[in-house]
Amino acid sequence: MSDVLVILDGASEPVVEDEPTSLERADTPVLDALAQAGTVRRLQTTPNGLPPGSETGIAVLLGWTPDAPVDRAALEAAGLGLQIEPGREAWRVDAADIEALRFPPEVEVHPLGPHKLLAIVPAGYPLRSDGAWPRGITPPHTLDDTTVVVGAPGAALGLARLLGARVLTTDTLATAAVVEIAAGAPRVVVHVDTPDEAAHRRDPDAKVAALSRADDEVIGPIAAAIHTHGGTLTVTADHGTDPRTGAHDAAPVPAVTWDPEASAGEELPDDEDLPVLATPKRRATAGATTGRRMTERWVATLPIEAP
Ligand SMILES: [Zn+2]
Repeated sequence: MSDVLVILDGASEPVVEDEPTSLERADTPVLDALAQAGTVRRLQTTPNGLPPGSETGIAVLLGWTPDAPVDRAALEAAGLGLQIEPGREAWRVDAADIEALRFPPEVEVHPLGPHKLLAIVPAGYPLRSDGAWPRGITPPHTLDDTTVVVGAPGAALGLARLLGARVLTTDTLATAAVVEIAAGAPRVVVHVDTPDEAAHRRDPDAKVAALSRADDEVIGPIAAAIHTHGGTLTVTADHGTDPRTGAHDAAPVPAVTWDPEASAGEELPDDEDLPVLATPKRRATAGATTGRRMTERWVATLPIEAP
């Protein structure tokens, strides 16, 4: 029996008048069925006064609430599996073109993407870069190997590693998660980074497509595995990311929790049994998009809860 948490990175976004949000536009028949059969909530993943971001939101969802900004560079280093030796320190640096940045030989540079890198420098080194993230606090060891975090390489997995979770780095998220569920892992966390990445590219359609794909390829197979093996499934976002601006958003996020045991006696949207969760295409034609949904607008009147 596994408690599974799927984190759709940056999935929510600010609601602007009648304009549908990405979660409202996406074709998410499984998520919609979970919302119908489960509990929809509104979660504060960004503590008051902290900047919204995965380093904060995922930490809160994993059970550690930081009281100051988290050290992004420490997360990136842990994500790469790097140990920072005594006398050296890591900096996360963002730049429009990292190829154009020049560092002296004593700086160890690890590219993280087209616009970001990790620089490891002698302690106290005057790193001259406008794009260097400020230092922050390092996550404490609050988890153990009863929590497994599945995701693509990156800072989210670095955070999980620093918190003490077992980390599975993979691009085949659902396959890895289903193996863990079948093996009875107590807590399985799956990090889906694609909605946030699309929103940072300011590509609203790509964000919608990423959410639709996550529903089909990740949430569907996991819901089917929970149905077979028992447990609970929660889906939420770590923070919002606005695809119009590419900026993170600190507003509370929508969440859904589904427990097949608890919902077994409840009426389902189209009188079918829960195994239909394994066939999202069929559910899509069943018109399950009316009523309760895991969207920003739907949760807007709910009380704000801690995760
Ligand atoms: Zn982001």
